[in-house]
Amino acid sequence: MRPDADGRPVVEIRGLGKSFGTNRVLQGVDLEVRAGEVVTIIGPSGSGKTTLLRCINLLELYDEGSIRLDGVEVGYRASEGPGRVRRSERELAPIRAKTGMVFQMFYLFPHLTTLQNVMLGLVKVRKKPKAEARRIAEHWLGRVGLGHKLDSLPAQLSGGQQQRVGIARAVAMEPMLLLLDEITSALDPELVGEVLAVVHELADEGMTMLVVTHEMSFAREVSDRVVFMDGGRITAAGPPSKIFDRPESDRLRTFLARFD
Ligand code: ADP
Repeated sequence: MRPDADGRPVVEIRGLGKSFGTNRVLQGVDLEVRAGEVVTIIGPSGSGKTTLLRCINLLELYDEGSIRLDGVEVGYRASEGPGRVRRSERELAPIRAKTGMVFQMFYLFPHLTTLQNVMLGLVKVRKKPKAEARRIAEHWLGRVGLGHKLDSLPAQLSGGQQQRVGIARAVAMEPMLLLLDEITSALDPELVGEVLAVVHELADEGMTMLVVTHEMSFAREVSDRVVFMDGGRITAAGPPSKIFDRPESDRLRTFLARFD
């Protein structure tokens, strides 16, 4: 966490529960991320990590508990939610804009250049004039080391470069919270480092992040806190030293042993 970060909660999750049919994939999840913090979620496949990120970003609806972003309950789509805080699409848009997400797959538009991919959301969603959108997009593409690839199409870029475009696209929208979901899992091993280096820099600059990763040495280096999810619950949480050097449960020890 950057020393000048003010530490107010950006996201507060309480008692979160989510089922797909009879499959209860999140239960009683409590988690807070404060401004400037980097929190990493680790855990076995199927433990609910992605679903948790997707609930925060409104890609999934939770059915128990609450998620507050910057003090505002995320709520449910009026048409689908089971009750309590129901919101129209119009109300949800500014809430959704508080977060940005980068996925395992890059989801760039194949027919648009690097620059156009990053400008798109700025123009269409943020309603920025084109010249300003271009300036912001050029800035962020420079920051991720792609200032020389502005006019390239995604197919002309390596996987690592495409993922760096994905990161530039997300941060250009100035989210309060960046959600990273296994962003290096689809990359060849030799391309992982360049993407993690970009994330590391953003973390050092105070970007608030919630990161799902299987890169344990990265998690240890970059995180203020690490949480271990298992069976839809958070079963351990603490600073990297506590989680990696003094794991308290057999489940966590067994999980970490796979990465030795
Ligand atoms: P993780 O990210 O930890 O691998 P996920 O959040 O992807 O875990 O998945 C948690 C559980 O939810 C798994 O059992 C998975 O099969 C299930 N699941 C995830 N998405 C869906 C979906 N859209 N429909 C039905 N089941 C899903």
